[in-house]
Formats: sequence, structure tokens, C-alpha cells
Amino acid sequence: MTATNAAPAAPEVSPPPETSPVPPEVSPPPEVSAEIPAEIPAKISARLLKWYDAHGRKDLPWQRAREPYRVWVAEVMLQQTQVGAVIPYYRRFMRQFPDLGALAAADLDAVLRHWAGLGYYARARNLHAAARQIVARHGGEFPARFEDIAALPGIGRSTAGAVAAFAFGKRRAILDGNVKRVLSRYAALGGRPGAAKTQAQLWQVAEQQLPKSRVADYNQALMDLGATVCARAKPKCDACPLAADCRAHRSGDPAAYPARKSGAVTGATVTGKPARRRKTVTMLIVRDRVGHVLLVQRPPRGIWGGLWSLPEYPHRAARPAATVARSQPSPPAKPPRSQPSSPAKPSRSQPSPRAKPRPPTPAQRRRIETWCARQLNLRVQTGRALPAFTHSFTHFDLDIRPLLADAPAGNPAPRMDGAPHLWYNPSKPATVGVPAAVARIFERLKVAPE
Ligand code: SF4
Repeated sequence: MTATNAAPAAPEVSPPPETSPVPPEVSPPPEVSAEIPAEIPAKISARLLKWYDAHGRKDLPWQRAREPYRVWVAEVMLQQTQVGAVIPYYRRFMRQFPDLGALAAADLDAVLRHWAGLGYYARARNLHAAARQIVARHGGEFPARFEDIAALPGIGRSTAGAVAAFAFGKRRAILDGNVKRVLSRYAALGGRPGAAKTQAQLWQVAEQQLPKSRVADYNQALMDLGATVCARAKPKCDACPLAADCRAHRSGDPAAYPARKSGAVTGATVTGKPARRRKTVTMLIVRDRVGHVLLVQRPPRGIWGGLWSLPEYPHRAARPAATVARSQPSPPAKPPRSQPSSPAKPSRSQPSPRAKPRPPTPAQRRRIETWCARQLNLRVQTGRALPAFTHSFTHFDLDIRPLLADAPAGNPAPRMDGAPHLWYNPSKPATVGVPAAVARIFERLKVAPE
């Protein structure tokens, strides 16, 4: 691929978890029989609806017209991402792809470009694939049957329930992270959140509690209560309509529910948090003789899946260099669906402790130039080092050392081990998506060009 013009250096908006491989919400979980506590507290819907009428969120952009396409896009964006971070992306996305036909007709690159910075890029790929599937199998009409919704790429049981309830008024439960937390606490379910038994218990409680009417408002109320009152670290039980018979509240330690991933299977004991991983890469800003920058498309799975990034020279602990853009950190575990159980940790780029550019030593330069010759089929001359910074993902921190490298005329075509590549012309409008960390490097280049 020899096209030019990559995505604009779009600023990363207090973004969500940029990174981790995505969490395709694939198919509904298997039905697992489970023993739920014999004595479930009383019905909560009347109290919740009353609370929602007074305090619930009713003016979010996707709530104004409960049209299936708009609801679906919002629900997918809200998987693993906070409402506040989603809103600007949602508005931009809707301006660019106002209906299902526009999304289905778009190139995947255009969709990824409008998703850049929102993280979990499999969501964008699944959204695009699902739009095309709806056109092919449902004549372009968003399906109303729960089973048909749940069969679309990237939609699991909870998202399908949300779309069915919000867009079609169906009596369907949801179980996103916020709802899981509220129900786990209300019924004092202390099992590990990811365990099949816990999931089955939660689904049973969720469905048992569904009211006969106002299901959409009830579902929204549960999500809002989890987001604003039943917070993960410090639940505001004094302001909660469920406090009178909430078992976790009665226990005196509501924040102990649900158990964290590393918690014990019995009870809600928290046994510690795994250490964050850390990786270091040198991102090579390889420029041709007219100043265009080499970008390589990342593989569809893994971090920044499908986006266009800089070649990465791996440091110790990274995988062998042979795969260039394909040698990326392996995906973390599949995250929960829909809105996060707590605000997703924003992905941030921060100055690294070694932010002051430290030029590579002559020996390091030789190694990098040899790596370029072997892995990229390019003779380059390394140049100035830009300030290093750390980009935080959900499960690890990536120390990024940007380094300029010039590829003089006469080079053969780059060889990327099968990965598509292009030469990015920074002065032209963007047509592909780049990760926020790479956009940041381009911004720095504009501020301090060579
Ligand atoms: S009473 Fe407290 S712990 Fe129970 S649901 Fe309400 S906020 Fe959460």
C-alpha cells in the first residue's frame, strides 16, 4: 500500500482505556444453573423508578431519540467507557455516520479514524461488521428480536438486552458493570465476578427484579444508581433508595462487594491487586526524502487493532522484532460489557520519568539501524530523540521513546512482513486512524520540527 495521508493528530479526550485488546462481546453466555441465595431481598423496581424520576439521567445524546441505530452505537461505545468520555465521540460519530446505511457503506479505516482515542478498537470493527450484516441479512432494518440482536458481532447478552429494552421497549434485563455492582451488593453476592456461577446468579437476580412496565427506565435507573450512588470505592448508601434492605449495606462494608477479580471465591475478600506490567519501545519516525512518515497497520487483534502506527523497535521483554507491528503485547482478559463497573481507567500519556530526550548511544543507534535494514528493508540514519513518555493502558504501561530516522533516496520498498504500510503526509488531511500516542508524537513534531 502506498497511499499517503494518515489521520489527523486527533487529541485524545480524557480517554478511556485505549488499548487492551478488545473485548468483543461475542455471544450470550451459556445458561448455567446456579444456586442463588434462598432469600432475595424485596423487589426494588418501585423504589428505583421513583429515584430515577427525581435523579436519573434523561438528557444524554442517545436518549433524545430512542432510535435503534443510535441506541446500539451508544451501548457499544459505553462498553468499558465512561459516559463523559463517550459523549464527544458519540456526537462526532453520529455526524459522520448518521444512520446504519452510512456506517455500512463506510470504509473500515474511516470508522477506525472516528474511533481513534476511544480505545478497544474491536468495538469499532464489530460495529462496522454488524452494520454490513444488518444490511445483508435484515434489509438494512435493525432487527427487533432479542435473538437477532444478540447474534450481531460484538453484541452480548447485556448489550442486546439494553438495545431491546431501550429501542424496542422489550422486557429484557441488562447486566453491565454498574448493574452487576448494585445487584451484587443488594443481594450480597460475594463470588468472583467472572465466575460462571456468579454470572448466573446475577442474571437470575436481574431477571427476577425486572418490573412489568417501564423496563427501559428501570434499566437506566440501575445503571445511573451504579454510576452515581453505588460507586465502587465509596458507595453513598445514605442517598440510596435501596439502603433499607441492601445486604451489603447491612454488612457494614458494602465496598467489599462484589469480590475483585483476585478475591477469594468465598465471600468478598479482596486479596490484592496484580502488579501492572511495563513495556518499553522505541517508536521510529522514519521519514522519506520528502518528509513523509512511514506508518504500519497494526493487526486487527491486540492493542490499537487496525490502526496505523509507527514501527516499533522492541526493547528487552518485548517480543522478537521480526513481526514489526505484529509484535505487540498480548491481549488482556476480556473486560465486562456495557458500562464499566466503575469508570474505566482513562488511558493517559504522561511524561516518562526519563522524559528528557536521551540520545541513543552509538551502539544503540547501530542496533536500531541494523534492525531497520533487517525488519523493514530500509537503510536509515537515526537522528534526534524526542521526549519519552508513558502511555497507560488498562493493564500495563507502555514507555515510548520516539526517535527520528531518515530513509535516504534509493531505498527499496519497505518490507513489513505482510503488514500494510503507507507514507503519511503530515500536511494533508487524515484518512486513516492513528493511536492517540502516535498522534501525540506528530503534534510534537509540528511544534518542534527538525
Ligand atoms: S445501599 Fe449502598 S451498597 Fe447497597 S445498593 Fe445502595 S449504595 Fe449500593
